[in-house]
Amino acid sequence: MRPSLPEPVLLTPGPTPIHPDAREALMRPMIGHMDPELFALNAEIQADLRVLYGTAPEAFTALVAGTGSLGMEAGFANLVESGDEVLVCANGSFGRRMAEMAARYGARVRLVTAPLGESINPADVAAHIDGVSMVAVVHGETSTGVLNPVPEIAEIVRHAGVLLTVDAVTTAGMQPFRMEQWGVDYAYTGSQKCLSAPPGTAPIAVSERALARFSARRSPVPLWYCDFEGLRDYWVEHTYHHTVPVNLHFALHAALRAALQEGLEARAERVRQLGYAVVSALEPLGFSHYVKQPEARLPTVLALRLPEGLDDTIVRQALRTHGISVTGGLGPTAGVIWRLGLMGEAARPAPYRALMVALETLLG
Ligand code: PLP
Repeated sequence: MRPSLPEPVLLTPGPTPIHPDAREALMRPMIGHMDPELFALNAEIQADLRVLYGTAPEAFTALVAGTGSLGMEAGFANLVESGDEVLVCANGSFGRRMAEMAARYGARVRLVTAPLGESINPADVAAHIDGVSMVAVVHGETSTGVLNPVPEIAEIVRHAGVLLTVDAVTTAGMQPFRMEQWGVDYAYTGSQKCLSAPPGTAPIAVSERALARFSARRSPVPLWYCDFEGLRDYWVEHTYHHTVPVNLHFALHAALRAALQEGLEARAERVRQLGYAVVSALEPLGFSHYVKQPEARLPTVLALRLPEGLDDTIVRQALRTHGISVTGGLGPTAGVIWRLGLMGEAARPAPYRALMVALETLLG
C-alpha cells in the first residue's frame, strides 16, 4: 500500500477539496447506468437541483457528463440557432468564453463589456437588448473576482421578453441564486466548485420558457451529446441515451445532499464570515481588494492585489512546498492579484489558517 500523502491545501478557485460524503460515495460499487436504483438517485439529484437553483417546479434539471464548460456549451447548443442575435456580457475570461461559444453555434454576438475588475452596468444591457433572442451573463466572473448584478440584469431581460442564460459556476450552492424569482431561463455550474464534488458533471437547470424555445427550433441541435431531448429521454423517460458517469452521480448526489442539509443561507454566511476574516488577516501584510466597488466583489473568489514588492511566482512556489495551492491572476492581472477560492470545502477556517502561518513564515 502507498503511504498516505498529506492533504493538499487547495485554496484555488476550483477544483475544491472533495466533501467527505462525496469521497465515500465515489467509492461505492458500480451499478448499471440503467439500474432502477440509479434512476431513483437521479430523481433525487433533480429535486435537489431545483432547490439549489431556486427553480419553478416544472423546470428541467439534470447533469451533463462534463465540466462547467459543457454546461455552458449545452445552453448555447440547445437555445441558439444560426443567425440569432445574442447579447453576451463579457467582463472577463468566462464571459468571453460564452461569446465564443455562442458565435460557434451561429449566433450574431453583441458584446456588453466593462473595464477589468468592474461589474456589468445593467443600463448597458438595456441599451443593447433590442432585437436579441438571448442575454448571457456570468454571475461570478472567476477571472477577476467580480460579481455581476444578475437580479438587475434579469429584470431588464424579463421586460424585453427574451431568454436569460446565467453562468452560476462560482455561485450556485454558496451564494443566493433564485432562478424562478429572477427570471433565469438556463443556468449551469460545475460539480467541482461550490458543491465540492469531483470534476466531471455539470448540473444544469432549464426553465419552461427555455424548453418551449427548444421545442420550436427550426434545426437539429448541433451537439448530439447534450441535446435536451436526449437528456430528457434518459432523465425522464429512463431510456438509453449515453452511459452516464455513475460514480460521479453518486458523489454529486452526496455532495448536494450535504449542501442542502447545511442550508444555502448558512453556506452564504459561512463564506461571508470567512471572507471577512481572511481579508482582515491579509490586509496587514499589504494585500488589498482588487475590485473597488464593494457590491461588485464576488464573495466566493477573493481577488486580492499583491503587496508592493511581493514576487508572485516565488511566493506561490514557496507555498507549494508547504502543500498550499494559491492561484494568481490571468492575462493582464497575472503577477498583480491572487484569487483565493472560498467555495465548498475550501471555505473553512483551517486551510486559511495554514495559509496565514505559511505566509507569516515566508514574508515575516
Ligand atoms: N465559468 C466560470 C465562471 C468558471 O469559473 C469556470 C471555471 O473555472 C468555467 C465557467 C468553466 O468550467 P470548467 O473549467 O469546469 O469547464
